[in-house]
Amino acid sequence: DNPIQRKPGWIRVKAPTSPVYHETQSLMRDHRLVTVCEEAACPNIGECWSQRHATMMIMGDTCTRACSFCNVRTGQPGALDGDEPNRVADAVAKLGLRHVVITSVDRDDLADGGAAHFAAVIAAIRAAAPDTTIEVLTPDFLRKPGGVEAVAAARPDVFNHNLETVPRLYPSIRPGARYYQSLRLLDTAKRIDPGIFTKSGLMVGLGESRAEITQVMDDLRIAEVDFLTIGQYLQPTVKHAAVNRFVPPEEFADYAAIARAKGFLLVSATPLTRSSYHADADFAALREA
Ligand code: SF4
Ligand code: SF4
Repeated sequence: DNPIQRKPGWIRVKAPTSPVYHETQSLMRDHRLVTVCEEAACPNIGECWSQRHATMMIMGDTCTRACSFCNVRTGQPGALDGDEPNRVADAVAKLGLRHVVITSVDRDDLADGGAAHFAAVIAAIRAAAPDTTIEVLTPDFLRKPGGVEAVAAARPDVFNHNLETVPRLYPSIRPGARYYQSLRLLDTAKRIDPGIFTKSGLMVGLGESRAEITQVMDDLRIAEVDFLTIGQYLQPTVKHAAVNRFVPPEEFADYAAIARAKGFLLVSATPLTRSSYHADADFAALREA
């Protein structure tokens, strides 16, 4: 087991207590929706849910992978729920969102990795909430030919897939994934439809070097990825990978400046940045610009 290190002062977050937080929670329960905010034990849940910003996780709460940083349970998932696209769409309409982020567990057990289900969710949201912009945060569709194509054909506004860490750390942190497969997925989504914004995210504090992070930024820009998020890795339980280091806020500011200089259109790099953190406000600001 890896003991959990005490967090520095800049990581502390407020407890979730607002009335809107509880409304968001009830809506998720009533629609039987799983959220990554809860499953990943996200530190921003108080802030996000108080602004009705919840990231729904489709295709169940059980993942076929076991990434060493992730709190989602691993196992054999159940059958897909054909009514889920409608429930997600109804919840999005009721929340009255400008922008929604939809993610999922990995479904290596499905022939298409769940791509058709993602497409169905996008179509249902478009029908129920035509003014809401849609961001999907997808699995890597490793050995699922046609998966990325099927999701891109449904025309999400933002196609997000997280590289998570630098290639050297994949065997220990993301053992079921392949760095270049993930990079190629982002490249493919952009080539299929250059009108879709592409986005990726990294965790730091896992033992990566600054040079490795800037190399990943270059790889992402070569794949014409538009948006980048960088946040501190936090260890969910003693069974998960240990934090190597708490990266101080000024190093995040340095990464943000480098990323902007390399041409990313939207950059969020702070200790508490998560893939979906402030995604709504940031995307709205970009569209208005
Ligand atoms: Fe949920 Fe993302 Fe906010 Fe975390 S940052 S609470 S995962 S919406
Ligand atoms: Fe968690 Fe995604 Fe890895 Fe599954 S594939 S364990 S949901 S990070």
